[in-house]
Amino acid sequence: SSSLNPLKTINEDIYSFAEVKQKEIDELKKLEAFRREFIADVSHELKTPIFAAQGFVHTLLDGAVNDRAVRTKFLKKAAKSLDGLDMLVQDLLTLSHIETGQIKMHFENIDLYHLTEEVFEQFEGKADKKDVSLSIAGSETKVMVYADWQRISQVMTNLISNAIKHSQDGSDVIVSFDVTKKNVVTSVRDAGEGIPAEHLGRIFERFYRVDKSRSREKGGTGLGLSIVKHILDGHNTKAEVKSEPGAGSVFSFKLPRAKPEVTDLEED
Ligand code: ADP
Repeated sequence: SSSLNPLKTINEDIYSFAEVKQKEIDELKKLEAFRREFIADVSHELKTPIFAAQGFVHTLLDGAVNDRAVRTKFLKKAAKSLDGLDMLVQDLLTLSHIETGQIKMHFENIDLYHLTEEVFEQFEGKADKKDVSLSIAGSETKVMVYADWQRISQVMTNLISNAIKHSQDGSDVIVSFDVTKKNVVTSVRDAGEGIPAEHLGRIFERFYRVDKSRSREKGGTGLGLSIVKHILDGHNTKAEVKSEPGAGSVFSFKLPRAKPEVTDLEED
């Protein structure tokens, strides 16, 4: 037995200690690699709109400012790039707040129907421009779940924004709720361009875009679905996506139904 050989136990202890430390070092190395990659990605994404705005402003200063038509056009383009930069920074802050747990989830019974109506209101202008109709399917007018209102509102904002962005002009964006005994599955459906199967597994990664130049043109930061993923993580659930190129996409996620309210026992 090892108790008869104290040197052996000490050796074993040293080995297992070294093993634990090595695992910790590997973890730290992985984290460090992730951090470095993240900074590289972010820098690259920041460069794109800065570089564009810089180009327009310098061209103006080099003389284009004297041509009235060119002046307006370039100023508009510079403004659009700066708006994109602003959106990117906002999305990055949201993501970092969620990741570092600075935003505590606030769970309560919420009405998804009401929440969806509120998000629709935000997008009336954008939908009108493309003649896209926004609607909620089914006859229910109240859909209660247990979740964080503000965060799920952000999820719906990102999914509905994407659905409108990628919709065919004149088509429908439909939200539906599938209520089962314990859960509610919310789906956001569009009749848009769809997503090729080989990209489906990657669209929730930060900065992943199916079509980089077209996505930027449409004003995307590439972070929308990554934010969706993190928020749903915080609700112990995840988004599912089904899509058919040329026909459209459906994004859905499951949340638990509302908890029974504590009734006032003094009443009876
Ligand atoms: P973006 O800011 O580019 O929209 P997202 O993270 O929201 O970034 O989405 C990632 C990519 O997934 C998009 O660039 C787009 O290619 C694809 N995508 C997301 N939603 C849809 C949709 N409803 N229809 C088609 N493609 C979509």
